Amino acid sequence: MAKKIENVGCPFCGVCCDDLVVTVSDDGKKILEVENACIIGSTVFHRAMEDRHTLPRLRQPDGTYKEISYDEAVDYTAKVLYNAKKPLIYGFGSTNCEGMAAAAKVAEKAGAVLDNCASICHGSSFLAIFDNGYPSCTLGETKNRADVIVYWGANPAHAHPRHMSRYSIFPRGFFTGKGHKGRKIIVIDPRHTDTAQVADIHLQVKQGHDYDLFNAFRTVVRGHDIPDEVAGIKKEQIIEAVEIMKKARFGTIFYGMGLCHSDGRNHNVDIAISLTRDLNDFTKWTIMAMRGHYNITGPGAVWSWQYGFPYCLDLTKRDIAHMNPGETSSVDLAMREEVDAFVNIGTDAAAHFPIEPVKNLRKHPWITIDPHPNMATEISDLHIPVGIVGVEVPGIVYRMDNVPIQYRSVIDPPEGVPSDEELFERIYQRLCELEAEDAAKQPAKAVPEGVRAGE
Ligand code: SF4
Repeated sequence: MAKKIENVGCPFCGVCCDDLVVTVSDDGKKILEVENACIIGSTVFHRAMEDRHTLPRLRQPDGTYKEISYDEAVDYTAKVLYNAKKPLIYGFGSTNCEGMAAAAKVAEKAGAVLDNCASICHGSSFLAIFDNGYPSCTLGETKNRADVIVYWGANPAHAHPRHMSRYSIFPRGFFTGKGHKGRKIIVIDPRHTDTAQVADIHLQVKQGHDYDLFNAFRTVVRGHDIPDEVAGIKKEQIIEAVEIMKKARFGTIFYGMGLCHSDGRNHNVDIAISLTRDLNDFTKWTIMAMRGHYNITGPGAVWSWQYGFPYCLDLTKRDIAHMNPGETSSVDLAMREEVDAFVNIGTDAAAHFPIEPVKNLRKHPWITIDPHPNMATEISDLHIPVGIVGVEVPGIVYRMDNVPIQYRSVIDPPEGVPSDEELFERIYQRLCELEAEDAAKQPAKAVPEGVRAGE
């Protein structure tokens, strides 16, 4: 008989919905139905078994791929990392914290640079937070308390489809019993997005002028005059939005790539945090980054605990970790051709990096660890298939508000296919063996003159 599994976590976006109900076949091998997920989350489960390889594939001199064993793939990867001067291990948005910790052991042993997708996503948020703090909250607090919501440079209707219904606009919480009717929604975006469609106020800021608009908001909050129009928005509209924000009982600003990827980047986030602080002189305001992948908050938590830094970790000096985005960030390293081996794990750098860094990285060994074929696997020297976290592999993931959630597995991975954690543990063991083999080849130290061995 088919089996229903409840409280399943969705391994797609940073909302980390953990209320999915998945029905699997009686032999536990097939996913039959997924309830509660949005279309993206549902597709992750329904397509889990499509296009799967069950053995690693090594590129041959003629460009074709040959299947090899996992032992051979582990040996190849360990040797590439061992022989490289400055390997880069990048990705991690789509795996569990256990896999991230195991990969960090490998990076440390190999003297690698360890980086995650924040590098090309909310990395600017980290820089702003280092400078200016993070007056944030959990999504539960927003759901239960917030009567004013601002989405600034974010379009959850498309990118985080259940965010609005689970936490921000529609749910009825402890102090927000009227749901949507009791909330004011402000969307700030150059385009009239589907999120703007449900807003009470949509401010169509001029693309790339968010910093100016934040300045105008802060000026009005502090009671000063502003020009008749700022960043394409009329003075009266700015004053109206600020008045709503000042009168809020509890507000949350959710922001996304509209701030992190446009002119100003970390400074846009920095001033958004300053606006949040200013508003706290009047009432309670919080701010939250709309983190993308379901566990892209994870490496920040795991590596900060291990090394003190959330991303762009240079471990090449081995006894000290160094972090300096711009210098130690993946795209910058690849642009300057500073790395000589690349491990792409739990992401698709070939699809999502600019083309120049991809071309530079492609000049050296490129290994991709991913359950499915993607653009990165198809230009890799080696593709190592692994189990899908949240579908076939359980583990801890961190939601966008830094709340850890235990994900479960609903089916088994194809026979013999390891998890990321198991794979990295095996690579680590092989690196230790290579190190021991090298040490054994070193000539024994000469006995100092005048001292007899054994005495
Ligand atoms: S909103 Fe995000 S986490 Fe929730 S079901 Fe959709 S893709 Fe999955």
